[in-house]
Amino acid sequence: MARQSSLLYLDGVSVSFDGFRALNGLSLVIAPGEMRAIIGPNGAGKTTMMDVITGKTRPDAGEVYFGGEIDLTARDEADIAELGIGRKFQKPTVFESHTVWDNLELALKGPRGPFSTLFHVVSRAERARIEDLLALIRLSARRDDLAANLSHGQKQWLEIGMLLAQDPKLLLVDEPAAGMTDAETAETADLLKDINRTHSVVVVEHDMTFVRALGVKVTVLHEGAVLAEGSLDHVSADERVVEVYLGR
Ligand code: ADP
Repeated sequence: MARQSSLLYLDGVSVSFDGFRALNGLSLVIAPGEMRAIIGPNGAGKTTMMDVITGKTRPDAGEVYFGGEIDLTARDEADIAELGIGRKFQKPTVFESHTVWDNLELALKGPRGPFSTLFHVVSRAERARIEDLLALIRLSARRDDLAANLSHGQKQWLEIGMLLAQDPKLLLVDEPAAGMTDAETAETADLLKDINRTHSVVVVEHDMTFVRALGVKVTVLHEGAVLAEGSLDHVSADERVVEVYLGR
């Protein structure tokens, strides 16, 4: 796909740490509206790739474009978040001493939030938006509970809801199923599929049951570059992928 029609475009991206190449000519193109799963063994460069996209790490070489035209290598982290790239880290970071509803309200209000949130000045449209988000993240019945009392999986969903409240164009999700029960893992795959109806998503994940449940195109990273790409069945039939995973 041409850069101009892509949502996210990485070409020949390299990053070195003390001479060690964490990314080694990585090229990856995400189409508008797509959900992509990124897999690969430990040390493959998945986290470094997310760091480059979000501006936490600057590449030594290569191109990174968002929306076809915006050069992300020239932007800092705050800028990139503002452009509409939301990142969900592995550990949930919600406001534990606030209710589920208030967490979403704070996220919706953004940086100007705390003052008006203190007095719960919420418009009808904002209330409706929070209701929609609660339904999406499967937490409507828990709206008045403190976030501290949610399960690990539910906290992950709440944080995803908080990111969506900021209306990102692209959601980056790092190992959402880690530490979840089997039931939560299955529900999270459904949640991401629901989100993908309206948002583009890149998800890094180790859990193959989860990746299979997503049913989307998979990119396998290895030694800082793309080793294989296609359906999960296609990449798992690739001998190089099997070798990398089994260490043969
Ligand atoms: P993954 O997320 O796929 O496990 P990473 O992107 O975390 O892979 O790491 C890729 C490689 O780069 C690893 O070998 C890791 O040790 C190295 N690396 C990552 N960040 C740094 C850093 N800040 N300093 C030195 N080496 C790093």
